[in-house]
Amino acid sequence: MKLRYFGTAAYEGIPALMCNCRVCRAARAAGGRDLRSRSQAIVDGTLLLDFPPDTQWHAMRFSLDWNAVAACLITHEHSDHFYPEDMVMGRPDFCPEGIRTDYYLPAAALRRLEREMADTGLADFGGRVVCHLVQPFSEFEVAGYRILPLAADHPSAQGPLFYAIERAGVRLLYAHDTGYFPEQTWEALRTFGRFDAVSLDCTGGLQTGYRGNHMCLETNREVADRMIAEGMADGNTVFVANHFSHNGGGTYAQLCELAKTYGFMIAYDGMEIEF
Ligand SMILES: [Zn+2]
Ligand SMILES: [Zn+2]
Ligand SMILES: [Zn+2]
Repeated sequence: MKLRYFGTAAYEGIPALMCNCRVCRAARAAGGRDLRSRSQAIVDGTLLLDFPPDTQWHAMRFSLDWNAVAACLITHEHSDHFYPEDMVMGRPDFCPEGIRTDYYLPAAALRRLEREMADTGLADFGGRVVCHLVQPFSEFEVAGYRILPLAADHPSAQGPLFYAIERAGVRLLYAHDTGYFPEQTWEALRTFGRFDAVSLDCTGGLQTGYRGNHMCLETNREVADRMIAEGMADGNTVFVANHFSHNGGGTYAQLCELAKTYGFMIAYDGMEIEF
């Protein structure tokens, strides 16, 4: 399985548009891996994870052919993961030769999509937008992938989810916009099988004490330790920290320095891992 990160930032991006903090100033000066767009990733070039406002930019930058996108899994309705205005771009009036997109999304996100499109007079998707409602802990299959939606600890969103994904015995956990997992999620994870790769929310970066709503590197390590202790991961599992905020206080190099001591990789826009 291949996981490619298109965007690796929280809501503000890095550098944030309207910010003069040390991290944003350093990112403007350094460029490269310190520049982060809003979070999105793709599994095997076909299973898209989230739809942020930077999707158009990601498709251009990383040569994404939308014909290859079998489905898009949405985690929750926050705008750095869910941007309805662009999700309907394949409508026949905008794109006579548009491509159908299948979205798998929680109820609150579906409500937001329908409400905003009704408000803007775009509620008729002309068959190009197909929505599938997803419930926490209710497994489903799409394009040969077994998907388990898990409840997140992300109180400012309604029904926030993250996803465990399996194909041919290879397993990925993509867990963003969540604090330390709720116990019900730990129970479900235990039955899914050993993970080959685990990508964790690191909004708090180098800060300490991020446990609710989001995590920091310190809490990422705690999650990894528990996964290993309870048999959900082992020494061969690839652990990645992702979804960074300027408020986390770390440049790419500073994050890498601490992550190395924890056995974690630090995601950057364009990074690809194979496992
Ligand atoms: Zn986010
Ligand atoms: Zn900043
Ligand atoms: Zn969020």
